[in-house]
Amino acid sequence: MSRRVIPVADVSAVPVFSGPLQTPSGVLSDAFARPLRDLRISVTDRCNFRCVYCMPRAVFDKDYAFLPHSALLSFEEITRLASLFVAHGVEKIRLTGGEPLLRKNIEFLIDHLARLKTPEGRPLDLTLTTNGSLLARKARSLKDAGLTRVTVSLDALDDTLFRRMNDADFAVDDVLEGIAAAHAVGLAPVKVNMVVKRGTNDMEIVPMARHFKGTGTVLRFIEYMDVGTSNGWNMAEVLPSAEVIARIDEHFPLVPLEAHSASETAQRWGYADGSGEIGVISSVTRAFCTSCTRARLSTEGKLYLCLFASAGHDLRTLLRNGADDAAIASALAHIWQARTDRYSQLRGSGADASQAAHEPRVEMSYIGG
Ligand code: SAM
Ligand code: SF4
Ligand code: SF4
Repeated sequence: MSRRVIPVADVSAVPVFSGPLQTPSGVLSDAFARPLRDLRISVTDRCNFRCVYCMPRAVFDKDYAFLPHSALLSFEEITRLASLFVAHGVEKIRLTGGEPLLRKNIEFLIDHLARLKTPEGRPLDLTLTTNGSLLARKARSLKDAGLTRVTVSLDALDDTLFRRMNDADFAVDDVLEGIAAAHAVGLAPVKVNMVVKRGTNDMEIVPMARHFKGTGTVLRFIEYMDVGTSNGWNMAEVLPSAEVIARIDEHFPLVPLEAHSASETAQRWGYADGSGEIGVISSVTRAFCTSCTRARLSTEGKLYLCLFASAGHDLRTLLRNGADDAAIASALAHIWQARTDRYSQLRGSGADASQAAHEPRVEMSYIGG
């Protein structure tokens, strides 16, 4: 059988530019005037789950070649790059993966990142997305290290269905314990992400809403996305957010809420009885590229400007070749200023989308969600 592989080193390039060095000014705009504000850092490409929509077991099996430890950015390398991103205007850092809590001593990295300050002297919004399986035992140490908040992924409350979706026999109760522990130590507000696949777990939408309503946890429904090339995505399995809202509204009336910020990916809805809010992330049916301020740093130090990018910029080689901070900061500025990525918008408009849809793309577990 031919094995599908993640396009990694072959498509990425070491940044080369000619031009004056650019000192960070705290504001960097891309080709469509989108500032650089958020950085997602993937700290491992490994995971203890095999979610069917992300790391299907048929592809990510025992022969799958995960990255060797020497390929991973060290905590010092991540912190150095992160400080330069912050100098360019990044205010929010999210650690992701793979499963970030599998990275050994992740608390040390959090401790380093928590010390970074924006050019105005503010602390960062430092958060992490996890499948929750190790959260009950790690919540306290994560909080003590300086993590601000946490987002937990949970696709169903029905234990049989959940085990089938994570395909690694993890129980719902493990994740619920993790969420409770995050609350207890003050990693709040805890957000819960549910990826909705029509015909697989859409019957769990209302039970999930009922479970988290009034608890302070913000439940967010994510449209199943065509990330990577291994999950066999098809549009028929996407349940549009509008339908999620309609289904919940039938049981618990909802009212639209204002966005917290222009770059917020989730649309907010409040329960009319005042018992909290939910969010919908309509990555497929309502592109939010025009306000996309996110950069992604892969596990091995490649910078991706879009979740659907097929190539990254190899910052690790720059670091390991001895580039100084001024040169790296300049490279980041040149890369961001040239950014024209807007995959979802193009796909939605039909123009150029067919070409974008057929280019190779990196896997979500490698680039981070
Ligand atoms: N392992 C961690 C977790 O599951 O929370 C962090 C990494 S995971 C790649 C980040 C987020 O991406 C999760 O909330 C996951 O549900 C979401 N995700 C993965 N594949 C997806 C897909 N095909 N469509 C939509 N969301 C997806
Ligand atoms: Fe692992 Fe997260 Fe992907 Fe599931 S969504 S396989 S938990 S990285
Ligand atoms: Fe941002 Fe790319 Fe997603 Fe558009 S498709 S919102 S540019 S990550």
